[in-house]
Amino acid sequence: MADEIHSPELDRDEILTLESPQFSPDRVAIVTGAGSGIGRATALALAHNRLTVVATDVDEEGLEETERRKEELDLRGAIETVTGDLTYDGDVESIVTAASELGEITYLANIAGFQHVAPLEEFPMETYDAMQRVMVRAPTLLAKHCLPHMRGGEEPAGVVANMCSIHGHYVTRDKVAYNTAKFAIRGLTQSIAAEGDGDVRSFSVSTAYVKTPLVVNQIADTAQQRGISEREVVEKVMLEEARTTELMDPIEVANAFAFGLSDHARFLNGADLLFDGGYTLTY
Ligand code: NAD
Repeated sequence: MADEIHSPELDRDEILTLESPQFSPDRVAIVTGAGSGIGRATALALAHNRLTVVATDVDEEGLEETERRKEELDLRGAIETVTGDLTYDGDVESIVTAASELGEITYLANIAGFQHVAPLEEFPMETYDAMQRVMVRAPTLLAKHCLPHMRGGEEPAGVVANMCSIHGHYVTRDKVAYNTAKFAIRGLTQSIAAEGDGDVRSFSVSTAYVKTPLVVNQIADTAQQRGISEREVVEKVMLEEARTTELMDPIEVANAFAFGLSDHARFLNGADLLFDGGYTLTY
């Protein structure tokens, strides 16, 4: 059906190409959540821009697919995969150790995350804890382990980028763990900016809905549940309050990460890049 919404495969010519002196093969970028969606697109975009990328995820098969896409697109940089579960501190440490053996750790993109929808009174606290570990604690611990490497390098020393959301600006009901995690990631971003001493920058990227497997599956389910088309789910359920009728492509988010990490964004520090089609600031 022409109306169906798919998670798109990215084309090489959609990737933003940046001339940035720090984007060189001896520099390492760690990307979490790189086995799917936005994380995969970001790993590919950074490899296209000649960085050595450590792509990490708990999903080993997803990482293999990311590597396969890198070969298929014939990208210039390298992608090394590290399978790890961000809820385990030991795995987090191993990711940084593996990255340090490949070159100078200069970039960290905290992208991994997941959603759970349930009312506050019924919200399972084990799920709450897991979400906080993946989306707040692991980004903090990764930054903690990466900062000494970044500070030890040449100027500018490094950049930490964090995936936020419109849910880091306002909240929707039944998403208490996600809402609090996304508000927290902005606090982490600003804390790194404060303690980066001008050497290490930090920024976050916020979007509304992006065509990733997670969201695409939700669209199909909602269409079936409500007896409407997938296009109607996007336009009437998801984007009714937005000034756009389209969902974002993962590569558009990846390009925002690549720009923010590049030297072109050297005055971007502590701020959030809000790419939401007018969702948050208009009514
Ligand atoms: P996705 O499901 O396609 O990718 C998320 C990845 O995170 C998966 O590969 C998953 O295996 C990984 N992950 C989950 N738990 C993990 C763990 N314990 N250890 C290691 N890896 C783990 O989803 P996505 O849409 O690409 O989401 C990426 C980020 O973007 C998330 O932080 C999400 O909150 C955020 N985001 C997504 C949207 C959207 O509409 N898709 C909008 C705003 C923000």
